[in-house]
Amino acid sequence: MDNKAMFKLSYGLFVLTAKLGDKHNGCITNTAIQVTVEPNRIAFAVNKANYTHDMLCETKKFNISIISEEAKFDLFKHFGFQSGRDVDKFSDFADYAVSANGLAYVTKGTNAYISGEVISMTDLGTHTLFICDVTDMEVLSDASSATYEYYQNNIKEQAAPAKQEGKPAWRCKICGYIYEGEELPEDFICPWCKHPASDFEKIYI
Ligand code: FE
Repeated sequence: MDNKAMFKLSYGLFVLTAKLGDKHNGCITNTAIQVTVEPNRIAFAVNKANYTHDMLCETKKFNISIISEEAKFDLFKHFGFQSGRDVDKFSDFADYAVSANGLAYVTKGTNAYISGEVISMTDLGTHTLFICDVTDMEVLSDASSATYEYYQNNIKEQAAPAKQEGKPAWRCKICGYIYEGEELPEDFICPWCKHPASDFEKIYI
């Protein structure tokens, strides 16, 4: 069995936002699909470690902002590599607006947003699968949607473009985190995405 077959699945990339009380929060997810047209329903899975997951379980309301190829690495870093439990992701973030449901959606590096309400939750262990009614949606730009493959081949490079010489460093192949140094400790865990040392590649910066 070749586990790399999973890499051939095509994924989009999204910012999932929720609001609990006065607090807006959001996280990156790569699973959002339309599952039925009549009624219009979508499904996505969210890692339970994300604070947005807990907010969504409680409020049942969300926006999904669809990330486009114009997105910068900073968008992924902002929503993907820090937790809403520790920081207010919207206190220093200007590229958003509020939709009719009162929730934030991302206006830069995105091409559409979908508002919805959760109608079903399935416990998948590490993740919860949410099935949702679409309540509203708007197109924001004509830019192409960013796939996970596009992120790997184009956007992630912005974290630190690889060079042939310079200071030795190790880059996380999953998220783009940079560890500076000649050797990467065997037991190193990526502080951003929690993947192990085996998912790092040597580069020069
Ligand atoms: Fe990582």
